[in-house]
Amino acid sequence: MAAAHLVAMKQHSVAIIGAGVAGLTAARQLAATQRITLFDKSRGPGGRLANRRRAGYIFDFGAQFFTARDPRFVAEVASLRAAGVVEPWRCRFAEIEDGEVVARRMWGDEHAHFVALERMSALAAHWAEGLDIRYSTLITSLRQDSTCWLLESEEGEIFGPFDFVILALPAAQAAALLPDASPLWARASTAAMLGCYALMLGLNAPIDLSFDAALVRCGVLSWLSVSQSRPGHQGLPSLVALSSNVWAENHMEDPSDQVIQAMREELERFVNQPLQAVHVDLHRWRYANCPASQDITPALDASLRLAICGDWLHHGRVEAAYLTGYDIAFEVMAVFGAG
Ligand SMILES: Cc1cc2nc3c(=O)[nH]c(=O)nc-3n(C[C@H](O)[C@H](O)[C@H](O)COP(=O)(O)OP(=O)(O)OC[C@H]3O[C@@H](n4cnc5c(N)ncnc54)[C@H](O)[C@@H]3O)c2cc1C
Repeated sequence: MAAAHLVAMKQHSVAIIGAGVAGLTAARQLAATQRITLFDKSRGPGGRLANRRRAGYIFDFGAQFFTARDPRFVAEVASLRAAGVVEPWRCRFAEIEDGEVVARRMWGDEHAHFVALERMSALAAHWAEGLDIRYSTLITSLRQDSTCWLLESEEGEIFGPFDFVILALPAAQAAALLPDASPLWARASTAAMLGCYALMLGLNAPIDLSFDAALVRCGVLSWLSVSQSRPGHQGLPSLVALSSNVWAENHMEDPSDQVIQAMREELERFVNQPLQAVHVDLHRWRYANCPASQDITPALDASLRLAICGDWLHHGRVEAAYLTGYDIAFEVMAVFGAG
């Protein structure tokens, strides 16, 4: 009975657009019983679990670490630790206000701040194992064909038919694909997401700032970390600085060289020394994170067979993205069970 039931359930085909934390999590929950195809515009999985390798430098320029509080994510992180994929970042943490260090503490195993060993995207690569993912495929429209969905890519390729589509995308990117007749569109089109700049500096020698990672409170910056302090980091010495969301929002259209100059000046003021950077890189995150949301509008439209997931439904955190992907998988299964 159980095997026959599984075979019957496997007959549903599900497209998941977005192979970040939320999309990968939804896919992993559903893959045992459904036919899952993921689509991502990037060349690899992870979305904002992002990593860049240039000239011997390795930069984690998206999510810097993550914490685990919900029992479901705590259990997942325990299995990731057992598999040797993540570790607590044991580092000297500081809080900086107006250029002064106002607090210091050690990050350890208690209330751990986790990172993937070597690079954050390694976590996404681990989760992506065994999944059917079409990379470098920007989905530009969804089309309903009788009771099924067809997906169209930027290249004009048509994928489908699919019984169900999950959009695991930042709010604005989900809103651009959702039909405006769906309540999901209303939710996605009104959600606020904030930008952020990541400045990456490759140094010609290791640097000791007296801390490894710092939360910064000033107009321009919000975060600073020394890459070689990250567990398993193998690149040359480097720093990653993140702008504050407010500053990024106010300078979203500025030319890159101006953004680099403003962030670098602020950084050099904090560290109180000119930085000998031999490699400089900047990434503009248009949709970096979001404030906590209290919106309890459903994330699934059973009549249109569409669903949404992603950090913005809850909070701009890796754990939140994981939980929205986890929950939506069960909601989709319930629709299949009912249908
Ligand atoms: C600079 C920065 C620092 C951060 N720091 C932390 C931190 O320290 N701790 C923490 O917990 N969180 C942090 N976050 C937030 C964390 O990274 C996110 O909450 C989480 O990664 C979001 O995952 P997601 O799956 O919801 O979305 P995403 O990771 O954005 O995944 C969406 C995916 O959809 C793809 N995509 C978009 N549009 C399309 C399309 N039309 N067709 C196909 N594919 C598409 C994208 O390529 C992407 O892979 C940070 C984020 C940033 C940017």
